[in-house]
Amino acid sequence: MRLRNITGSNETVAKNRHVITEPEKLKGSWNTLFANDNPIHLEIGTGKGKFLMELATRNPGINYIGIEKYSSVLLRALEKMDETEYSNVYFIRFDAEYLTNIFAENEIERIYLNFSDPWPKDRHAKRRLTSRQFLSRYNQCLQSDGEVIFKTDNRPLFDFSLEEIDATEWRAKCITYDLHNSEHVESNIMTEYEERFVAEGKPIHMVRICR
Ligand code: SAM
Repeated sequence: MRLRNITGSNETVAKNRHVITEPEKLKGSWNTLFANDNPIHLEIGTGKGKFLMELATRNPGINYIGIEKYSSVLLRALEKMDETEYSNVYFIRFDAEYLTNIFAENEIERIYLNFSDPWPKDRHAKRRLTSRQFLSRYNQCLQSDGEVIFKTDNRPLFDFSLEEIDATEWRAKCITYDLHNSEHVESNIMTEYEERFVAEGKPIHMVRICR
């Protein structure tokens, strides 16, 4: 999702109280930001933030961080944040390629990847958020019993992801090719993209990625 560039969005995002502007400084001490020792869950490529805010409302005992590369997209999430008071959600405008610069070993319990960009050209494969390069980054900051939960409508990207899991120390659990007609649908929270794809009748694929 890349909205048209919005003039001043970088500055507006940086000034927002829900945004962490120097995340490197919190590496290894994110719990001090939340002032508790609750588990930390990330969503990478959080888009307009609906999924993360719904999770945060349902699970006050979990701390959530949304990572989004573009401030023009993050602006939309921040507008929604101002409608409700959340103490367990923060956002970072950041490229997840540098994830290990901002999170220490074992600092994260779970990572959500929802409808990640497919990067269809082979030469861009390492930019896919489920590539072995990204799995290695997750490996460095996830707890040993931590997991990555990935949802997509894109079958080639899903197949690629399963191959990458097989080629690494990760393993795939609870694979479904049609989440909305599976037992996992009960606990599912829809993202903005998911609502659109489900309305179009597209099946949603999901996998839990563990070590
Ligand atoms: N997760 C949302 C949803 O399901 O509605 C948005 C999906 S959108 C297709 C993918 C989002 O991931 C975009 O907002 C994009 O800017 C963001 N993104 C892509 N690569 C990223 C990266 N390396 N780091 C952070 N965000 C990224």
